[in-house]
Amino acid sequence: MPKITRSPLPKKPAPLQCAEKFRKRAAARPRPTRRATKKAKPWTPAEVREAFSRFRKANPEPKGELEHLNPFTLLVAVVLSAQATDAGVNRATRALFAVADTPQKMLALGEDKVREYIRTIGLYRNKAKNVIALSEKLIAEFGGEVPRTRAELESLPGAGRKTANVVLNMAFGEYTMAVDTHVFRVGNRTGLAPGNTPLEVELGLERVIPAEFMLHAHHWLILHGRYTCLARKPRCDVCLINDLCRWPEKTV
Ligand code: SF4
Repeated sequence: MPKITRSPLPKKPAPLQCAEKFRKRAAARPRPTRRATKKAKPWTPAEVREAFSRFRKANPEPKGELEHLNPFTLLVAVVLSAQATDAGVNRATRALFAVADTPQKMLALGEDKVREYIRTIGLYRNKAKNVIALSEKLIAEFGGEVPRTRAELESLPGAGRKTANVVLNMAFGEYTMAVDTHVFRVGNRTGLAPGNTPLEVELGLERVIPAEFMLHAHHWLILHGRYTCLARKPRCDVCLINDLCRWPEKTV
């Protein structure tokens, strides 16, 4: 079986262009509800900067853990990752992407074969349908390329806001914030961006995190939630930001 390696992704937009676009979008966003914010004292801008400076120092180039070869396989991997672990998705996609790393090849493989490759992943029947349907749509409407806008990405079968955010960030270098279960927990516990829904947390994080950290902020927060701020037993004693965290139940 051919070895999967990460291939270079398309050229990303210039950082300054991204920063300006991000700043305008963040400034235009609504404030979170009073209900979501009343408990924790909001972080000061200096505290937020300090926290992300520490994340950056500890891990200057954080990487996502979903294996992929190009924007198309990244898109498919994210669609498959709904309610599944990255490790579980990777185990299935290594073989799948070795034979189908483009929409054309995925379509040629067909739904039955895709289903066989991914049968260890939860909801695999529906996900196989979506992978074929999104491949068809990419070929029919986007010239076989992964589109670069949120609306177009969200129009693909099986792709929602989180998928669009991950693809825009990882494949195209946009300053987006995908909120999964880890980011949702960290945003709320720390008091960085309290919210009752993933969207509230996403918009809250985009508003408080300075643009210079936004390219990697999504990965820093996911990794922080996955390995340090664990759901059941957060490792507050080794947490980089334990002095800044607002969670009343932190153990330090
Ligand atoms: S101090 Fe504890 S609860 Fe707060 S972010 Fe760190 S690990 Fe999570």
